[in-house]
Amino acid sequence: MAGIYIHIPFCAKRCIYCGFFSTVRQDEAARYVKAVCRELELRALYLADAPVTTVYFGGGTPSRLTPQQLGRIISAIDSVIGLKSLQELTVECNPDDITPQFVSSLCALGVNRISMGVQTFNDEMLRFLRRRHTAAQALEAVHICRESGIDNISIDLMYGLPGQTLEMFRADLRTALSAQVQHISSYCLSYEENTPLQALRDQGKLTPADDDLCFQMYTLMCDTLREGGFEHYEISNFCRPGYHSRHNSSYWDGTPYLGLGAGAHSYNGSSRQWNPSDLDLYMQGVEQGSPSFDVEHLSRADLYNEKIMLSLRTSRGLDLSALSDKERSNLLESARKFLSDGSLLLDGNRLRIPEPGMFISDLVISSLFC
Ligand code: SF4
Repeated sequence: MAGIYIHIPFCAKRCIYCGFFSTVRQDEAARYVKAVCRELELRALYLADAPVTTVYFGGGTPSRLTPQQLGRIISAIDSVIGLKSLQELTVECNPDDITPQFVSSLCALGVNRISMGVQTFNDEMLRFLRRRHTAAQALEAVHICRESGIDNISIDLMYGLPGQTLEMFRADLRTALSAQVQHISSYCLSYEENTPLQALRDQGKLTPADDDLCFQMYTLMCDTLREGGFEHYEISNFCRPGYHSRHNSSYWDGTPYLGLGAGAHSYNGSSRQWNPSDLDLYMQGVEQGSPSFDVEHLSRADLYNEKIMLSLRTSRGLDLSALSDKERSNLLESARKFLSDGSLLLDGNRLRIPEPGMFISDLVISSLFC
């Protein structure tokens, strides 16, 4: 099994908090699509013969491409690598790009999952975040996706926004439940380097939510979504039964993936490599037939630590039977104090972090590294 991630870095404008690689140079879209297809040819052997089960267009904003441009990339993947085993094809969309015509064109391309960056259903907060859409547009977009036959819709929500109260977040969660989506990813706002949001904080022009309030919001989210029929399957991800993100789950399972496009990361089981987060550098390298990228070869210790870190992010936890006898006994020794204070649980052969502790899991996880 393997996955393919395609980074589409174009955005109509930049959100206040965004630390992702994205650009407003939309006039480069046609050239970029060609470069992605060329990169695919150059890296056709990266996944060996592993069948591709998931394809994910992330960004940036993939819905800034036309269906024809997205279709060109999908056809290239099909002819170069093959999509006979494909189970999940996701496109991230901005709610205000969603129209019935756009979604039916995506369906015709085989897209069966749409992920939307809603962030909040509060219009004042959306304006503050410099999002392009309104709450009404987000709800309409979900409706259009469903009416067009997409039955696997994910939305992103944020909490811990400056000025956001517990009641405001409760209202967002209720609206999300009433929208009848199948999947919710929810993140606490972080202050990324060199963003306007960070500058406002540093100038004292906003007050970040305090840690206690963020934890209350996290707890409220876990309780509300559980009562609403959602499974909490990864620190930041919730789904209705059977609707976990297969593509993102493959990152946590250690499944190989090929990342195409500027800033995209790839993993093949023994190394990670990443393309430059620079549009010109990326396109020029590919056009000249020698893509530039950085690579990190992973030692046995790196692979072990990654396995611990990624699997303990999930509710299934870490399968101890996948470790050697020595690794297992070392790990259980390091885990002893967390098992006794309840920060870790041992369920048969699985070591996992209980739900309340997931919010502050970094300390536990890093203490288990070799
Ligand atoms: S739409 Fe997404 S990628 Fe683009 S600026 Fe906003 S948060 Fe960043």
